[in-house]
Amino acid sequence: MKITNYKLALFDLDGTLIKFAKEFLFSQTRAVYEKLSIEEASTETLEEYFSKFDFFGFVDDAKRSEFERVYWELFNWADYPAPEVLAGTLDTLSWLKENDVPSVIVTSRDEKPEGIAERFSGTGIEDFIIHIQSRSELEKEWHDKRPQIETVCRKFQVEPRECLFAGDVPPDIESAKACGVGLKIALLSGGIRKEVLEVTGPDLCLESVAQIPQKLALD
Ligand SMILES: [Mg+2]
Repeated sequence: MKITNYKLALFDLDGTLIKFAKEFLFSQTRAVYEKLSIEEASTETLEEYFSKFDFFGFVDDAKRSEFERVYWELFNWADYPAPEVLAGTLDTLSWLKENDVPSVIVTSRDEKPEGIAERFSGTGIEDFIIHIQSRSELEKEWHDKRPQIETVCRKFQVEPRECLFAGDVPPDIESAKACGVGLKIALLSGGIRKEVLEVTGPDLCLESVAQIPQKLALD
């Protein structure tokens, strides 16, 4: 698991490098309740389902697909709060750079990479990220990152097994696993429970990206 085994580091964005804007997502959820005029779930309930990565599990089966459709219909990345870089992110990205491992963002946001980059300008992240792979309109399944991982590997002419991937939700790890990524790191920094992440079979489960240098320098 030494860092010298890898040529490229792939990072999810929200909940991995920057704080997951959970409160914003909850406020979006409340807007859907209002629009559909159905009784709201409590914040505790939303928190619970969030930590289980069952994002719409708090809605009755019969109404769930409509709820989900309206949620994404109302969703606007432009309203998303300003990024708050998680503790240790810049140190880890800097350490990777010193070890000749460039970093790439693989995000399920369906914004243009330039728009994402602009939002990050001034946070320091932009000094270390050589590429942002967002989700194209053709990729309908927001959680499936396989197409993005494959595109990045082709672009930088590396094999998936020569990459590490760090992310905070189960599909991050599942996508990396399906692509044959060499080192899959699950992170607890996004608020998903450890046991929920562990069933996806990551190679490492860490509190946050801050632990990556220590872990990969030693093992
Ligand atoms: Mg994430």
